Amino acid sequence: MSLSRREFLSRSLTAAAVAAMPQAVMGAAEPPHVRDAGGGLVDVQVADVARPKSAGDVQQSLQRWKGQVCIGGARYSMGGQIAAPGSLHLDMRGLNKVIAFDPALRVIRVQAGMRWRDVQDAIDPHDLSVRIM
Ligand SMILES: Cc1cc2nc3c(=O)[nH]c(=O)nc-3n(C[C@H](O)[C@H](O)[C@H](O)COP(=O)(O)OP(=O)(O)OC[C@H]3O[C@@H](n4cnc5c(N)ncnc54)[C@H](O)[C@@H]3O)c2cc1C
Repeated sequence: MSLSRREFLSRSLTAAAVAAMPQAVMGAAEPPHVRDAGGGLVDVQVADVARPKSAGDVQQSLQRWKGQVCIGGARYSMGGQIAAPGSLHLDMRGLNKVIAFDPALRVIRVQAGMRWRDVQDAIDPHDLSVRIM
């Protein structure tokens, strides 16, 4: 099959553009967006969103991704700190498990995406509550 010079250049540029896209975006109908908790003030198009469930998941995401990384917790900050355009977004909300809890010592160790509300649920059966949040 012979291609005209125009067709050849057009197809080459398309192939180059696809090759330059982050793997996570290829094949996606629309690049993922990251929004703040209210869904309004922050709306940033990122390259991919990772939803780690363990520290190992975080490690794997960071090893695979060579670009910028941004992190979101409950997303209540209002200055756009949770998202950077074209970055890998780590959605920490799935990292909300108790790692260790000693009711007698009143010490709890939790994953990095834990919210005070989740902590309260974990300690309430032991007649404990969070004094200062
Ligand atoms: C109306 C309003 C009232 C507020 N009142 C208070 C108040 O009374 N007291 C108070 O202290 N704050 C208050 N804040 C501020 C807000 O609670 C803080 O910005 C807090 O950081 C929000 O936590 P978040 O989990 O939503 O963080 P996010 O908004 O998700 O993230 C905040 C920053 O922390 C980083 N981050 C989030 N999770 C992690 C993680 N697991 N590991 C590493 N980095 C992480 C993010 O990248 C970002 O830079 C208020 C905010 C609003 C909008």
